[in-house]
Amino acid sequence: MSINCYKKSKYLYCVEENDDTYIYNRYSKTACNIGKNEWKILQQLDGTKTVDEIAEELNDGLTCKEIAVLINIFSKIGLIDGYEKKPKNNILRYKLGLFNPNKFINSSSQILSVFVFVILICPIPVFIAGIINVNFNLLYRNMLNCINIKAGVIYFVFTIGFLTLHELGHALVAKKFGAKVVEVGLMLYMFVPFVYVTIGGMSKLKSKMIHVLISFSGIMVNLLFCGLSLLLISHAESGYSNLLYIEILLINGSQILVNMDVFFKVDSYYALSCILDEPKLYDKSIKFMKNKFREGALSLDNWLYGLYGSLAIANLIVVPIIIIASLQYLLKFLKLI
Ligand SMILES: [Zn+2]
Repeated sequence: MSINCYKKSKYLYCVEENDDTYIYNRYSKTACNIGKNEWKILQQLDGTKTVDEIAEELNDGLTCKEIAVLINIFSKIGLIDGYEKKPKNNILRYKLGLFNPNKFINSSSQILSVFVFVILICPIPVFIAGIINVNFNLLYRNMLNCINIKAGVIYFVFTIGFLTLHELGHALVAKKFGAKVVEVGLMLYMFVPFVYVTIGGMSKLKSKMIHVLISFSGIMVNLLFCGLSLLLISHAESGYSNLLYIEILLINGSQILVNMDVFFKVDSYYALSCILDEPKLYDKSIKFMKNKFREGALSLDNWLYGLYGSLAIANLIVVPIIIIASLQYLLKFLKLI
């Protein structure tokens, strides 16, 4: 192969759409959209043609220089063989991609519609029915009975399973509404393994509302399991099944609480930043708080950053205090301190 013959990366997953092509690089775990002309050129890069040969073959007015400039851009964004960028893995957040489900899930399939209906429509009525049916005094007493080391181990193992279902909720709703689910894999987050899904093409979604729905669909899955466990607790007789349902309730309840904190970069934060049309709400607010006293007049945007930033800082202080106090209560209860 001559030095002038470029080849497109073997890690690319490309989906041609009406006016552009979505590309996911499973090596660098990055995505981009390119236009029709760019896609035509990228397809030509099979490692056997020089820039001159490509210009001759395409014959659509593009000069060799223009094609060379484009190839240079492609290499910078990791679309060319040998120029792929290393993924930003670190020891606390290690991702191992397993497969790409996008080509197997048909967004108009009926099974997908049923799943999406269950995820978006069922949780609220099921949860309300659970709340109405359960005896809270009994539930509280049963919860106290469940606090022990064995329950802690079950909690940890089940958490991994429900985090996976939560992710699946995002993926299925995203696919239904036209986004792409380009990777399913295993992730070690703080050494805890669970399944992750990568959703692409969110910027091309038709409305803000769909973006918000996708952000909340993981929480909806958790809410559904909370509702189901409340219903089952209210009808359970044996202590064993009660323990199981209480675990499911606590795991999903805590996942909802974590994801509802709009001052951390979790699901509800992404929904809020989408509603406010400010994808960098957190970073800009924190930056604003740092520079607040040095900079000039407060515009409407600055008021928003100031308000959000102050609450985010308060949240950073309050949340660890709540966690430490809860752990202390738990350890006291278990007579470990
Ligand atoms: Zn989520």
